[in-house]
Formats: sequence, C-alpha cells, structure tokens
Amino acid sequence: MRLTDTDSQFDLVVIGGGVTGAGVFHEAAERGLAPLLLEANDFAWGTSSRSSKMVHGGLRYLKQGKFLLTRTAVLERERLLQTYPGLVTPLDFLMPLYGDYGPSKAAMKIGLSIYSFLAGQRQHQMTAREQTLDLFPQIRADGLVSSVGFKDAQVDDARLVLRLINDGCRRGGTALNYTRVTGIERDKKGRVAAVTAFDAATGHQIERKTKAVINATGAWAEHLHPSPVKGFHMRPLRGSHLIFPGDILPLDRVISFIHPRDLRAVFIFPWNGCNILGTTDVDHEDALDKEPVVTGEEAAYLMEGVNFILPGLDISLKACISSIAGIRPVLSKKRKKASKESREHVVWEDKGLVTVTGGKLTTFHLLALDALNAVQKYLPGPKENKPLVAKEKPDRRDDFSHISPTVRQRLYGRYGKAAADVLTHQADLTPIGTTSSLWAELSHAAAHEKIHTLSDLLLRRVRIGLFLPQGGKAWLDEVETLCTPFLAWDKSRWAAEKKGYLDLWQKFYSPPIA
Ligand SMILES: Cc1cc2nc3c(=O)[nH]c(=O)nc-3n(C[C@H](O)[C@H](O)[C@H](O)COP(=O)(O)OP(=O)(O)OC[C@H]3O[C@@H](n4cnc5c(N)ncnc54)[C@H](O)[C@@H]3O)c2cc1C
Repeated sequence: MRLTDTDSQFDLVVIGGGVTGAGVFHEAAERGLAPLLLEANDFAWGTSSRSSKMVHGGLRYLKQGKFLLTRTAVLERERLLQTYPGLVTPLDFLMPLYGDYGPSKAAMKIGLSIYSFLAGQRQHQMTAREQTLDLFPQIRADGLVSSVGFKDAQVDDARLVLRLINDGCRRGGTALNYTRVTGIERDKKGRVAAVTAFDAATGHQIERKTKAVINATGAWAEHLHPSPVKGFHMRPLRGSHLIFPGDILPLDRVISFIHPRDLRAVFIFPWNGCNILGTTDVDHEDALDKEPVVTGEEAAYLMEGVNFILPGLDISLKACISSIAGIRPVLSKKRKKASKESREHVVWEDKGLVTVTGGKLTTFHLLALDALNAVQKYLPGPKENKPLVAKEKPDRRDDFSHISPTVRQRLYGRYGKAAADVLTHQADLTPIGTTSSLWAELSHAAAHEKIHTLSDLLLRRVRIGLFLPQGGKAWLDEVETLCTPFLAWDKSRWAAEKKGYLDLWQKFYSPPIA
C-alpha cells in the first residue's frame, strides 16, 4: 500500500517511524483509533536502530539524583521483559572497581542497593577481586579491588520498532515508510487540519486530513515544530559503536567500565554473535539528513578505553568488522558537558500538533502516553492509560514442538502473531553465518515487511549487514536466491541493489580508520 491508496482522513497522523512514533502508533491503534504513521526513510532508520540496545533504568540518573526517572525506567524495563520475552531479554552487567579511579566500592554498593530497591528485588552482587579475574582474566588487574554485577535487559531496537508497527497495523493502523511529511496545514483558527507528504516510492505529494498530529521525529523534531521555549533547543549528540567478532572475547554479559580519559561509563557487550563497544557522546555538526558515521577520533577513544580495561585482550581496530553511529535527540538550554545533558523527554502542544522528543528507547511507552494525553481533546473516544500489552503469545495450537524453545521464543518475541508464518512457510531455521539471525527471518521480511532497498533488509530487518564481514558481501548471492520470489526485483535491479548496499555500507558502516 502507498499513500495514494489510503483514506483521505485519519484520526491521527504520527510523524516519524522510530521507537517513539511506533509506540504512539501502536498505543493509538490499541485504543481503537485509525492512526497513519509516516516515516521519511525506512522504519527505525533514525536513532532507533543505532542505540546501545539496553533496556535499563540508567544508573547514571541515580548519580544525578533523578530517582523518579530511574524508578520509571526500571519499571518499564520489567514491563518490557514481561511483554516481549524473546525480543527483550535479561542481560547481566559486570563493572570492575578500582582503588585509584572510578566509583568506589562503597558508592556502587549504595547506588545499586537503591537500584535494586526501585526494581523491588535485589538485582546486584559484589564479586571479589580474585573471582573477577577468574571470570575475565583479560581485565586490568592493577588496582582492581572487586567488581559489581547487576541486571538490566537488552533489545533489538529496530525489531522492537517493527514489532510495534506490525502489531499496530494488525489492529487497524496504516504505516508507510519512505514518505516524508513536508507540511502541517491549519484551519482559519490555527488548528491542525491536514498534513502534506511526499511519497518517494510513487513521487506523489499528497494531503491527508486529520485533527491531530504527533511529531515524533526525534533529533529532527524542530524542523516541523520549533521549540516554544526560548533558548531551549535540540542539541544533536552523536554516539558511536564499534562491532567486533564474538570470538575476540566470548562474553555472556556486559563489561561496563569507566573510560580513563574522561571518566564516562562505556561498555563492551555481546549481541547477535558479536561484541559491541560503545559509546561516545559528542556534538554532531554534520547535516541530519545523511547517515551519521563513526569518526577516526571516536574510534581511537573507544579503543583507548577497551585496551585500558582489557589489556589482556590485546585488540586492535583491525579486528573491527563494522561500525554504527546514532544521534541522541537531546534538548539543551545551558550547553553543559555532553554527557551531563538531561535525557528527559519534552512534550509541546500547539492546537492539535504535539511534539514528543528526547527520552530513551526504554521509556518509549511513557512518551507515547504523554503525547496521546496531550492531544486527547482532538481525538475521538475517552482518555485511557492502559499498560503496554502484547496480545500475541506463542500460539498453543501451532505444531512446532520440534523447534527449540529458544528459536520459538526469539520468533514470537520479534514477530508476534506472524511468528507462526515464519515457522510455517519458511522452514530454514538455520542461522546466517555466525549471527543468530535465521534464514527464515530474511525471507519473511522480504515478503511482508515493506522492503524498499536491500539495506532495509540487511541493516534493519535482520541486521546481518552489521555482523558479517564486509557487510555480508559473501552472502549476497544467497540472499538474492532466497528473496527473489518475494521481492519484485529482476536481475538488473538486484545488481543495482547489491552495489548500492555495498557502497552505502562502505560509506557509513565500515570500520573507521583511526
Ligand atoms: C548511541 C546511542 C545509544 C543509545 N542507547 C540507548 C540505550 O541503550 N537504551 C535506551 O533506552 N536508549 C538509548 N538511546 C536513546 C534512544 O535510542 C533514543 O532515545 C530513541 O531511539 C529515539 O527514538 P525516536 O523515535 O524519538 O527518534 P528516531 O529513532 O530518530 O526516529 C525519528 C524518525 O523520524 C523520521 N523523520 C524525520 N523527519 C521526518 C519527516 N519530515 N517526515 C517523516 N519522518 C521523519 C526520521 O527518519 C527518523 O526515522 C541511545 C541513543 C544513542 C544515539
């Protein structure tokens, strides 16, 4: 379906297909509304495919005395673990503590006791120096006092966005990628009346009537709705990650540590068969319309950190297989040190236009509720703040008892009701290369998940472009053979897609040169 095929009027238009817009869209569809979501690029193309994938309370907010924010995020973490098992999964953290730098053992004990208290259960423990070195002999031993372990959770961010959008569509919403909102029209009284949007797939510029618009465009928010608060503006901050093969250090948990240069918390964590090292927090001066890249300077900073904390690993940038950078939508008044800027969200309302931006992936549902409440008077139906519920649980009637519980849970977490389709029609449940993505997921995405370019498929739906050497170049012919029946691409289109994808990967996702 494209914009020309849709109704001329919607209850609500949501602009932006990141986690915030997807959360609003899903919640609106849950309430029985008929929302239209428009995304200028691919779903999750923005920050929501470029996060550190952590569903967390945020220990650093505790340090800033923001107990309410931490408690809210911890409760959201618990809710998401319950709602999307297989997509949101528990994740252990280990933080080595040193006598001569970083937080002290006593300070961490207090902080984590509060963190556990906010979660309603003890979720941390101290590990002695010798046991820490037994667990990770590569860890810096000089000055090591002990380590602390605690629990948070992890999510495939882009898949969370897709899950919310797909479930929202199943409940009556309409979501289109590659459709950029170019204007918000108002009536004589200044109230929102319509949006105009450019559909890149058809080349049509089209108007759709609506009484309410939620602008969930993250770092782009002020392009459609300038801040109403004097001197308070978007400060795009770039965060970068380097991706290494999993075999450089078999990790079953995050190693979180304090960077010796600026005493920021950074980490290395396992994901999809790889290890990810991140992040930075620097002003992003480039234009927001092109994909962000990890600079050589950021790569050097991250390598300095990992080599300091894991000197026994003896790792160089040469081992890096890919990189990914994202832009934090941070609103700033006083331009503090980047890492000290508030990550809280804002909601601005102007006669039917509500902008919601800032915040975190973890708290997307709260952002959605706040945005919908702010626009409620323009919407049909009563106000309701329901907890996030995923109605699709593993279907007891399916006949897949021969499939491993881990695979079933992965698929039900990622695809909800559609998991049965992945399992039924596409039998190849073997993993692709060294990743945990399955061949069946690739063909399912090609058939059902609004793929416009090969990079949609390989960077955001199954994400093997981030985890295989050279963006998965060696697998592209196999991908073509598998997906040709589902994508209306002839040989020359496939050749152009493969070239376009590899050029894009080289430019924005290849390992940086320090
Ligand atoms: C490096 C990094 C690490 C992070 N790690 C974590 C973490 O571990 N845990 C956590 O909870 N949070 C994390 N965050 C924060 C989290 O990722 C963001 O808060 C969240 O993804 C923002 O989502 P969003 O939907 O608001 O914005 P986005 O995901 O950027 O979505 C906005 C979308 O709007 C679209 N758009 C823009 N203009 C238009 C238009 N005119 N018409 C239509 N569409 C438009 C864009 O293409 C984009 O896709 C991290 C952020 C970064 C940068």
